Amino acid sequence: MIDVVGSRCCGCTACKDVCPQGCIAMLPNEEGFLYPSVDRSKCVGCDLCEKVCPVLSRKSKEDAFYKNVRETYAAVSKDRKTLSESSSGGVFTSLAKNTLREGGHVFGAAFSDDFRTVQHVVIDRIENLNDLRGSKYLQSELGNSFSQCKASLSKGDQVLFTGIPCQLAGLNRFLGREDENLTCVEVICHGTPSVKVWKKYLDHVEAKQGKTKEASFRDKTVGWNNFGMKISSVTGQELKEIHQGNTYMAVFLRNFALRESCYECPAKGENTCADITLGDFWGIQNAYPEYYDDQGVSVVVVHTEKGKKALEEVAEDLVLHETDPFKSLEDNWIIYKPVERPAERDTFYQDLDRRSWKWIVNKYLDQRSVVERGIDLLRRVKRAVVG
Ligand SMILES: Cc1cc2nc3c(=O)[nH]c(=O)nc-3n(C[C@H](O)[C@H](O)[C@H](O)COP(=O)(O)OP(=O)(O)OC[C@H]3O[C@@H](n4cnc5c(N)ncnc54)[C@H](O)[C@@H]3O)c2cc1C
Repeated sequence: MIDVVGSRCCGCTACKDVCPQGCIAMLPNEEGFLYPSVDRSKCVGCDLCEKVCPVLSRKSKEDAFYKNVRETYAAVSKDRKTLSESSSGGVFTSLAKNTLREGGHVFGAAFSDDFRTVQHVVIDRIENLNDLRGSKYLQSELGNSFSQCKASLSKGDQVLFTGIPCQLAGLNRFLGREDENLTCVEVICHGTPSVKVWKKYLDHVEAKQGKTKEASFRDKTVGWNNFGMKISSVTGQELKEIHQGNTYMAVFLRNFALRESCYECPAKGENTCADITLGDFWGIQNAYPEYYDDQGVSVVVVHTEKGKKALEEVAEDLVLHETDPFKSLEDNWIIYKPVERPAERDTFYQDLDRRSWKWIVNKYLDQRSVVERGIDLLRRVKRAVVG
């Protein structure tokens, strides 16, 4: 619906004029600017308003992004243990090991000891790689890692800095210059919820099963496509849910809780500062079914000569196939386009402060079927009428 454009709307009126139902009116906001207002009772869901919108159509940005892509690959780690412990195809581990073997430093996101926060840390030993492996779907705190990175570079050390696009953009501007010893690897980013959301969810889980001993957002027990949340507790209990059935993942993936800037991400796509971008090769079954692996496949996007060299150095560790960039990223447009801000984002964080996780789930993720909701509505109407 066109009103998701919100404050980004420039007031051009194309949506109003294109609507075959005439259900869009341009109404003034409190400042006197005109914005589209949709009469949802007349809307037939044809999406013409979204298609015509110059703000939502980011074609030119998409084109600019592809100009920044040298090559794309499908990649799977040959080490099955690494593959099963990684979110996608395990490429991060190969790149990190290579840097560490040469005496370099690797920066990335690790859980705190109590699993309640995620922080950027630096590691120098392969034994510590496990801390960085695996996606943690909340915003990591960078602490003073930019300064640490600068100090390492000024000593002439090799550095592999990994993170989400905005973190690499910040690092790039902080350093202010290219450094041949620095390789930047970003992960494709859907956006990040805040630590508050994760803590609220974890409190809810820990109330049932006790303190957390281990947590994974990308458990692959039932395969990569059906990845899930796994939280093991010190009491020996375990929560294990595939992502479609997990409430934290649903809140994350339905975009209610992302940082405001994620909806207008200034760092992804054509603005990337990375040498390499890593992501899940979503859609591989259609694009390249012959390269599919049920334990995960990475899409590797090479942007620079340095990135190409880094990938070549680890090629032996990987089953690697060069792919067509457009085909590879068709189902992963999130690499160049921010997700949309849902209207519910307005109230989500206020509710999070005041309400329980269960209440949040009921309000924002009504997981009942249409029939169940219909029956519930009829019951409530009957109660109101009959008493
Ligand atoms: C918040 C977030 C959103 C993502 N959204 C998408 C998406 O929409 N589509 C997609 O294809 N891929 C997405 N990814 C990337 C994907 O989940 C994998 O991280 C990526 O494919 C690398 O996987 P791997 O198997 O090579 O290595 P892994 O070992 O799984 O990757 C670990 C790497 O991720 C970094 N990392 C983990 N958590 C964080 C964090 N919170 N902040 C910064 N860096 C972190 C580590 O530092 C390390 O470099 C996302 C990752 C994150 C962290």
